[in-house]
Amino acid sequence: MEDKCTMVISGSQLMSYISDFTTLCWFMEPEFQEAVRRLHRVVGNAVVDDRYIVVGTGSTQLYQAALYSLTSPGGPEPVSVVSAAPYYSAYPEETDYLRSRLYKWAGDAYEFDKNGTGPYIEVVNSPNNPDGTLREAVVKNRGDEGKLIHDLAYYWPQYTPIIRPADHDIMTFTFSKSTGHAGSRIGWAVVKDKEVARKMSKFIEMSTLGVSKDSQQRAAKIMGVICDDYKNFKSDELFFEHTRRVMADRWERLRQVVDRNQVFSLPKYPKQYCLFSGELIEPYPGFAWLEAKEEEEEIDSQKVLRGGIKVQGRTGSRFGVAQKYVRVSLLSNEEVFNQFLERLSTINSISNGH
Ligand code: PMP
Repeated sequence: MEDKCTMVISGSQLMSYISDFTTLCWFMEPEFQEAVRRLHRVVGNAVVDDRYIVVGTGSTQLYQAALYSLTSPGGPEPVSVVSAAPYYSAYPEETDYLRSRLYKWAGDAYEFDKNGTGPYIEVVNSPNNPDGTLREAVVKNRGDEGKLIHDLAYYWPQYTPIIRPADHDIMTFTFSKSTGHAGSRIGWAVVKDKEVARKMSKFIEMSTLGVSKDSQQRAAKIMGVICDDYKNFKSDELFFEHTRRVMADRWERLRQVVDRNQVFSLPKYPKQYCLFSGELIEPYPGFAWLEAKEEEEEIDSQKVLRGGIKVQGRTGSRFGVAQKYVRVSLLSNEEVFNQFLERLSTINSISNGH
């Protein structure tokens, strides 16, 4: 992008806590809100008309804000929070970190569907971290006991076909995965209900008294550049086409190595029609979800990678499944990714790692 995304903030700009006291999310920069709505309209991955936008310090803060919003002022028992295994490893940790009396982590959503009782919140992560699948809610709602949070961090065209504009009660997105700017700590929620959005904003007010305006402005700038390029077809290669090509190339090379050494297997993803590109395309998730081919559940694949080739993955048990699974990020820089493939190609048996 060269210097198209460069921005200058002078010493006297963006000093106030307040962005716009007339709106519900008063610490949200109007330029940021506009840029978010525009980006979703360009990509077509979420319905934003007649929806509230809430900005957060990453979608991590918005997850907590959503839990608070859906459970306060609270009843006699904490509300169960569930997600289908394998689930994003931070959900259990974030849910129980403060030992809230409003909500508690209750594990796998399939299990809860069979045996759980009482009010619950299901977190639907689609495409799912760690395994890259497109998902829907799994708990069959009984009356009005269930609420949903859709974590759509990876629902962008470089990772997945855009199969429809998502339209759920609470959807969270993040700058970390849409463009890769994790360090800016910017996320946003698209919310249907005004009261839910108001409570989420209140949570953010209570925890951090707003969200960095410097970061909101930078995010607005970068999203604006991406959208302008789509409007003008000015760039040699547009943003999502470029990033998709990078992901496709990485997956092709990864599959070659994994097929050749026969120690692990990778999930197969069906091609689906993508409304954004107008083509049938394959998902290219941000993680390799590797499963040891040997049958035993006890094989510790994280240990095999670490001990054998000094690659740090995250074990399946952190995601609520067997440790024969391990997740490795594919979103590092090119040099690190190449190193990973080179090392992975030297593993030729599971015992390499022991
Ligand atoms: N949801 C999912 C599924 C993620 O993978 C991540 C980042 N690993 C997050 C939420 C949190 O992202 P952030 O706080 O950077 O927005």
